[in-house]
Amino acid sequence: MTDSATTGILDAVTVPEGEGRPIPDAATREVIGHAPVHTVADLDRAIDAARAAQPAWNALGHTERSRLLHEIADDLEAHADELAELLSREQGKPLNGPNARFEVGACAAWTRSAADIALEPEVVFEDGPVRAEVHYDALGVVGAISPWNWPMMIAVWQIAPSLRMGNTVVSKPSEYTPLSVLALVEVFNRHLPPGVLTAISGDREVGAAIAAHPGFDKIMFTGSTATGRRIVESSANNLARLTLELGGNDAGIILPGTDVAAIAETLFWGIFINTGQTCASLKRLYVHDSLYDEVVDALAGLARQMPMGAGLSEDNVLGPLQNEKQFDVVTRLVDDARERGARIVTGGEPAPELGPLFYRATVVADIEDGAPLVDEEQFGPAIPVIRYSDVDDAVARANASEQGLGASVWSADPDAAVEVAKRLQAGTVWINNHGAINPFVPFGGVKASGYGQEFGAAGLKAVAAPKVISR
Ligand code: NAD
Repeated sequence: MTDSATTGILDAVTVPEGEGRPIPDAATREVIGHAPVHTVADLDRAIDAARAAQPAWNALGHTERSRLLHEIADDLEAHADELAELLSREQGKPLNGPNARFEVGACAAWTRSAADIALEPEVVFEDGPVRAEVHYDALGVVGAISPWNWPMMIAVWQIAPSLRMGNTVVSKPSEYTPLSVLALVEVFNRHLPPGVLTAISGDREVGAAIAAHPGFDKIMFTGSTATGRRIVESSANNLARLTLELGGNDAGIILPGTDVAAIAETLFWGIFINTGQTCASLKRLYVHDSLYDEVVDALAGLARQMPMGAGLSEDNVLGPLQNEKQFDVVTRLVDDARERGARIVTGGEPAPELGPLFYRATVVADIEDGAPLVDEEQFGPAIPVIRYSDVDDAVARANASEQGLGASVWSADPDAAVEVAKRLQAGTVWINNHGAINPFVPFGGVKASGYGQEFGAAGLKAVAAPKVISR
């Protein structure tokens, strides 16, 4: 891939030096471009434009909007290389592995699924001449606030269903990864009427202004639980509907009798996908005593083997932490585990020879609940492996978290695993997998991981106003 591969879209979205925020390459810290720093006044203008554009966009109808979404997905695929390269540099995730190319592919796939899912009126009651139907109308203007870990894909999860349902959208990327989302929106806007979709690349204050703004009918938010709580408080004033996809501290439970060699690689990627910076990745692993050493060795062996380094090198499948704040969180949690006497099986330290924000893939054994590495969301490449001897006890410990995004059960007997899955408090429980998502299958959390669902018909309903027509 040549430098010129990124010139088109990156040039279209960057502003001259001195007029915006310098955005570093996550691996090398070289400046890759300057992002506009939009203000609350820019936000007000974007909302006015979105409001003005919404009736005509809604009037186009589902068929035409779906056609345009497919056209956008084609264009995302046509620009996949340059989008993946920009994403890899800004976010840090390598091109290969379940990383940048995968993310751009998912953007196209989720755009197409939002176009294709049927959402017919539902007849909910019928008795002779009496009949009640639920129709799904556009809500109006959607505010979409996204995080830095899967910046393009999560923005698409918010934008594509909202557009499909006849809403217009103002999208705010994370201040850490604005260029990726600006580039994505640039491709969308080559196909959309003016005002239908605007990216506002502002700071956290602009995020707060979105949450409090009376101009939004719905806020889609993906980010931390702490910010989610603030958004709920703001919604007391504007009564915007909310979908909150918040943090996770997903548990995985490996049942006795599991074929460790057969699951090892899937388990590894369930933990280390995007170098552990994934909302629904496995963050606490409970392993039955009979398999404990085998699982720890298998994970540590894979952690040592997987190439880590700058994302643009085709060899690498693990990258840096995206930002210094997250690097500090991972460092603090692993250092604390070591000081408590936990065993660092592999990793446990930064990899400065690769760049300032690299941290080695880390497996921590002989650690218990109560250690911050177990109880808090590490959001990085460090997995605590906890020993258990009684499945009921493992379920109780998995459920002890305030969060409930995902969970997984690993077993040679999938039926036995389903029985354990039924007892876990999470929005999704995977069997012999963790974090596998599908645009047709609803996704969302319980407890402090938020509320509302994305994807599939449930995701379309979440950005629509149900209207009952009763006769
Ligand atoms: P964050 O909450 O710090 O920021 C998320 C977004 O909110 C950013 O765009 C930010 O600018 C904006 N923001 C900041 N303050 C705001 C406010 N007061 N009001 C409105 N918006 C505000 O989260 P992050 O650090 O970018 O992302 C990491 C977190 O996101 C992790 O906890 C992770 O688990 C979670 N996450 C969840 C999912 C999911 O689907 N459940 C997906 C990805 C990430």
